[in-house]
Amino acid sequence: MNNKIMTAITVVILLGVVIFGVYSQRQDQAEDLELEEYENTAMMLDTVNTLRTYGPGGEEAVAEAFSRLEEIELLLDLYDEDSDLNKINRNAGSEVEDINQELLEVLSLAKEYAEENEGAFDPTIGALTLLWGWGSEEGPAVPAEEEIEEAIQLVDYEKLHLDKEEGTAYLEEEGMILDLGAIAKGYAGDKAIEVLREQGIERAFVNLGGNIVLLGEKPDETPWRVGIQNPRSARGSAMGSVDISQEDLIDNQIAVATSGDYERYFDDNDTRYHHIVDPATGYPADEGAVSTTVVSENPSRTDALSTGLFVLGLDRGLELAESLTGVEAVFITEDKEVYKTSGMDEKFQLMDDDFVIKEWQ
Ligand code: ADP
Ligand code: MG
Repeated sequence: MNNKIMTAITVVILLGVVIFGVYSQRQDQAEDLELEEYENTAMMLDTVNTLRTYGPGGEEAVAEAFSRLEEIELLLDLYDEDSDLNKINRNAGSEVEDINQELLEVLSLAKEYAEENEGAFDPTIGALTLLWGWGSEEGPAVPAEEEIEEAIQLVDYEKLHLDKEEGTAYLEEEGMILDLGAIAKGYAGDKAIEVLREQGIERAFVNLGGNIVLLGEKPDETPWRVGIQNPRSARGSAMGSVDISQEDLIDNQIAVATSGDYERYFDDNDTRYHHIVDPATGYPADEGAVSTTVVSENPSRTDALSTGLFVLGLDRGLELAESLTGVEAVFITEDKEVYKTSGMDEKFQLMDDDFVIKEWQ
């Protein structure tokens, strides 16, 4: 074959490759465009909630999901006088009948997760959170030590008894109080995704006050990138991210939640008092973590665990997280050290040089 013919064939092949390349790129774009995006945000559950869907039917599905969230808000509101949750609290010390089945379901999940982390997350924490004044009109303040000692006695998830068949709940001691603040947003995320799925949505991003649930693959097929808040910077600045690709999804979804000492706190005499209480001491948890991020399939469990691992702290928390299947975690310390479970290695990306990744042990 002479050179001219060779060149001509090469050009034709190359052009073919280029044209095919452009064509397939067009197709990708076209596919991307077909997946119409819909997003809406609403304040509820004491926080900002964003639901985003990809694909047809988003607006209707999101509206359905929001009305489901409203139901859950009413169900789990600690401060609503008329709620079943309050009925159980007011009648602590005796059994209460006619309790809403869904509330019993949330309570039994909460009890299960409390067992999983040996009461570091404890839904009967209410006597302590109320004593510290979180959610009160006057705002939080440091209680007297004797008061803390007394309130600690009223925190014990093993003294919460539930009977779904009978529709009853029973807190053993008078003065015990349920507080579902550390699981409510996770549970709500669980149900929001459930509604979206029922409505035929296959890809979605749900963010309920930092409790993220991802459904399906991102439309452009790149990994989902969930930022981890820098615990010592302005809200919205990430120190790293957790990247979630298709193979990280379990049953086509995954949840990511962070608990941090920067979410709600006050300063008194140069000491920071934050809103995550250690049931063992009655004081804000202080076992080496200033932020804990959990990744697992189940949003309720992820929320409860993020609080539980925070309370357990760096050593015990990492040990527990490492021992649980389907659970990965990232811990950040006051000194900007980052510790993570082994399964996080490929998912976690450090974005801020002020932080250092450390090996545990
Ligand atoms: P956030 O609500 O800031 O996202 P969490 O999920 O960690 O963070 O939940 C914190 C809330 O949970 C507190 O505001 C309080 O109502 C409740 N809480 C605090 N300490 C505990 C605990 N040890 N176990 C269970 N709930 C807790
Ligand atoms: Mg939580």
